[in-house]
Amino acid sequence: MKLLKSDSFFDGEKYVKNPVEITIRDGLITELSYRHTKRAASWHARFVTPAFIDSHIHLAGYAKSAMTANLTGIRTVEELRKRLLEAPRVSGWILGRGWESAHLNFVPHKKILDFILPDTPCSLRSRCGHSLWVNTAALTKAAVTGRTVPPEGGVIEQDEDGSPTGILKENGIMLIERAAPSLSESSAFSNALKTALNHLTGYGIGALCVIAEPKDVALIRDAASCIPLRILVEERPSKLLSSEGVGSVDGVKLYKDGALGNSGALMRLPYLGTKNFGVEILDNATLEKELLKSFGRLKIFAVHAIGDLAVEMVVGLLSCYAKQACQEGTILRVEHFQTATLSAIRRAGRYGIIASVQPVQQYGDVEAARKRLGKRSRLMYRLRSMLDSGVSLAFGTDAPVESPHPWRNIQAAMDIGREGVYGDESITLSESLKCYTSSAASASAFKQLGRIKEGYSATLALYDEDPFEYLCSRNGIESLRPSTLLVDGAPLTG
Ligand SMILES: [Zn+2]
Repeated sequence: MKLLKSDSFFDGEKYVKNPVEITIRDGLITELSYRHTKRAASWHARFVTPAFIDSHIHLAGYAKSAMTANLTGIRTVEELRKRLLEAPRVSGWILGRGWESAHLNFVPHKKILDFILPDTPCSLRSRCGHSLWVNTAALTKAAVTGRTVPPEGGVIEQDEDGSPTGILKENGIMLIERAAPSLSESSAFSNALKTALNHLTGYGIGALCVIAEPKDVALIRDAASCIPLRILVEERPSKLLSSEGVGSVDGVKLYKDGALGNSGALMRLPYLGTKNFGVEILDNATLEKELLKSFGRLKIFAVHAIGDLAVEMVVGLLSCYAKQACQEGTILRVEHFQTATLSAIRRAGRYGIIASVQPVQQYGDVEAARKRLGKRSRLMYRLRSMLDSGVSLAFGTDAPVESPHPWRNIQAAMDIGREGVYGDESITLSESLKCYTSSAASASAFKQLGRIKEGYSATLALYDEDPFEYLCSRNGIESLRPSTLLVDGAPLTG
């Protein structure tokens, strides 16, 4: 038996400003008492919360980002050059991630990379992950020319003379990645996974819903055996439910559209000053077939949708099967739910469709939203409207798209609309914590996580400061870190 004493706590639903003693037996919470007795405690905290659950994280991608060039925040060619020249080579290639076209003061083109790296193949993922920028050496290695036909749901951007610009989108990315070295096979990868997990648990994250490519699933399971895990497998285009190995995953994540970062999110009206409506990656008929196949086999069926039209179409489809999903025990999720009309939000609320959201992306999206959507940016990040319409929210970060730091994500949820681009859609600290704990647990079928309550797992984060008091006194919660993380009642040591 172990005893945890705390001065206050968040129980998964609400903040309780009261001393509490939590009795833990065999990893479970067996008793809560609202006063401090003289009994000796194994731990004493100022504040305790159920450990956070990141509901949408690319664990392999996050681990790999430490092995390649980090292009986050670059604006100029000079900054790009510096980062690329410092980057490690991977089997003769330079790989990287994190550039955001709305932040650049130039237009990305293969010629810029050719100038920096004339002979070394170079392949750089955008911040959102939906575009790839490569040089001529990489195009040559992958045998992509002006005559190459892009795969369905993919784009190979071309100059006026028909030659590739060096930008590939969505399923077009596969053409290069097939030829580029795979970090998954590198011996450093499993160590990088362990380091990544140490970062996450240090932030107070005690469970993950990981989006993974099939080739990484086994290694992720191995490396992450210390914390509870769900794996949603993704493959583009989706062949996965017919492929082997489905038994080792908990769900599937399919793509309806692209992302705002590459003007690939599917919108009802075109992007400002263009005739582009975005990209539809999978049509509803294909999604419907995959959904029917998942019943009885998978716990979670998730669809990525960012544009308002994509969200509306996916919610429309999922709502038709909400009753059957409930009977089959399949959780229906929309990943991102980033731009949405009120009617789509209300429909999701009515049919119990979960919105898996990443508030922290609001910061990096401001420029693209302003330039490409203008006033329609008010349809983005509608957390307030979602909660008011009864939509259950699960917070994630989509790392490596953003830092996995949960308190930064929480701050972002409380800040929405402050800079005047998005609507006033902010939510409170208590509501945000619920989205990271009990609601996140329901979104990933973690039955015993996310609450401080008898019968639940003692997977808890202990803090030396109370964020509810911290908020009033210092304005900013981003520096918060737990002093201890318990997983099933045992402290996790890195
Ligand atoms: Zn993602």
